[in-house]
Amino acid sequence: MQKFSYHTHTDFSDGSNTLEEMLQQAVVLGWQEIGVSDHLIVHKNITQSISYQNMIARAHSDMYHSDFKTALPFFNKHAEIFRKIAKKFPLKVYLGYEVDFFTYDGWQEEFKEFISRLDYDYLITGNHFFTNLDGTEIVDISQYKKCKDVRGGDSLENYLRRHYQTIVKAVESGLFDFLAHLDYARKIPEHQNFPMIAERLQIVDALQRHNVACEISTKGLRKIGDFFPENNMLAELIKQKVPLVISDDAHQTSELGYAFDAAEKTLNNGGCVMRYHLK
Ligand SMILES: [Zn+2]
Ligand SMILES: [Zn+2]
Repeated sequence: MQKFSYHTHTDFSDGSNTLEEMLQQAVVLGWQEIGVSDHLIVHKNITQSISYQNMIARAHSDMYHSDFKTALPFFNKHAEIFRKIAKKFPLKVYLGYEVDFFTYDGWQEEFKEFISRLDYDYLITGNHFFTNLDGTEIVDISQYKKCKDVRGGDSLENYLRRHYQTIVKAVESGLFDFLAHLDYARKIPEHQNFPMIAERLQIVDALQRHNVACEISTKGLRKIGDFFPENNMLAELIKQKVPLVISDDAHQTSELGYAFDAAEKTLNNGGCVMRYHLK
């Protein structure tokens, strides 16, 4: 069974445990490696988001940044502390980030410049927002009902479609090691009215073409009783030989390795042979 996770959170972003507590639990589980991937979210209009008040009620406001310039020293300071703590534990610890990819003019260039100065080991793209047409206005997906109040906003169907198109762009950017929770938007009950099969298959296609890995997340089991991504997408990923990695998206120590046996079984039964591993 896979004895590591590369998608985990600490109280540096919205996790409940400290880095020390998470690493200690990984040692207890007998893991020899772990990746910690706290959120990295930078959007120029984030504080003006219609969902911002809800976002900061659920996690501390330090998690959200409106410019790369001030974010850089903040994250590099974190890296310094992180690496000191990691050294004290008898396992290999990778410093990663789960990055929301945005599509407004200039974001990608600024992000590239930012990561060229950032101390990190790997990057995941995990996308948690709906955006308007030019990407300048964002709404936290769990607050999707507020979308109707966005100036110049449109239908849920269009928000969903753009969300999946954003993920395709993130994959095509070549900036990320793997994709988190491909169809996280399934947590919205109304998603079933707009299945977005073609859009999701475009993500699978982009992963295959750009040789980017994808996770099977047991967080889906905790949230909606099913993996992210769902079975038909998983079958397609396996068929296209996209490398897969099991993630728990742990936000607390008790979630490390959560249902990895079930995920392992699903991958093996599906005939998955392409597994992802950080080099
Ligand atoms: Zn996420
Ligand atoms: Zn996460």
